[in-house]
Amino acid sequence: MIKNKIILLVDKLSKKYQDLNGEIVALDNVTFNLYEKEFISIVGPSGCGKSTILSILSGIDKDYTGDVVYKKNLKVGYMLQTDSLFPWRTILDNCLLGLELNHKLNNDSKEYVISLLKKYGLEQFINKYPDNLSGGMRQRVALIRTLALKPDILLLDEPLSALDSQSRSIIGKDIFNIIKNEGKTAIMVTHDLQEALSVSDRIIVLTKRPGSVKKIYNIEFNNLDFNSRKLENNFNKLQDEIWRDLDVDNNS
Ligand code: ADP
Repeated sequence: MIKNKIILLVDKLSKKYQDLNGEIVALDNVTFNLYEKEFISIVGPSGCGKSTILSILSGIDKDYTGDVVYKKNLKVGYMLQTDSLFPWRTILDNCLLGLELNHKLNNDSKEYVISLLKKYGLEQFINKYPDNLSGGMRQRVALIRTLALKPDILLLDEPLSALDSQSRSIIGKDIFNIIKNEGKTAIMVTHDLQEALSVSDRIIVLTKRPGSVKKIYNIEFNNLDFNSRKLENNFNKLQDEIWRDLDVDNNS
C-alpha cells in the first residue's frame, strides 16, 4: 500500500484518571502514526481507553503525558456515539450549529452544508426536525454537521453503535462512502470487528486497561467497498485473529 504523508504522531501517550477510589491508569505508552487520507480503527476490550484516546486527540482532554503532534493547521472534527441533534432545530439548523458557534456561518458555508445535505440524500429533510428522521438518517446528519467545519481529520466514536444491525450495514456503507468521497482522514473507535474490517486501512488493537498497542494490522483489501470486503477470502480469518487478540484472558 502506498503511504501518504504522516499527519498525526502519537508517541508514548499515557493517561491517568483520579476518582474517589484513587488513580486509574487508562492508557500506557500508546504510540502510532496516522497518514493522510487513511482510515484507522481502534479496537480493544471495553474500558481499555479507546474513547480516552479520541478525547485527547480532539483536544478536549489535555491532561496526559506523551506527545500528540498534528501536522500544522489541521482541523479536527469529533463525532460522538449519539447523534445529539437538538429536537427543536431543523436539520439544516442542526448542521449549521458548529459554524454558528465558531463564528464561521456565512453564505458560502451555509451553501456548502446545503450541498452536502443534497448530495447525501437529505434534501427533502432540510427543513424537517430530527424526530421525522430514522436513526440512520440522523447519523448521516450528525456526520454532515461534523463535516460542515471542513475538518481534515474525523474522530468517530462508535458512530454506528446506536443503530440496529440492518441499519448498521446500510449506514456504515453510507458513512464510509461520504468520508472517502470527501477525501477525509479518519480514526474510528469501535467494538465491532466486521465494521472495522469493512472500512479500515489499518486496525490498532489495544490491550485491556491500561490500554497499550497490542498489534497493528494492515488491511490489504482496502480498495473494495464496504460490503464487498466481507466476501474477501481472508476477511473471516482476520476477524478470528483479531478476536483472539481481544480475548481478555489472553489480553495483556
Ligand atoms: P473505552 O472507550 O475503551 O471503553 P474509556 O476510554 O471510556 O474506555 O475508559 C478507560 C478507563 O478509564 C475505564 O476504566 C474508565 O472507567 C476510566 N475512565 C474514563 N473516564 C473517566 C473519568 N472521567 N474518571 C475516572 N475514570 C474514568
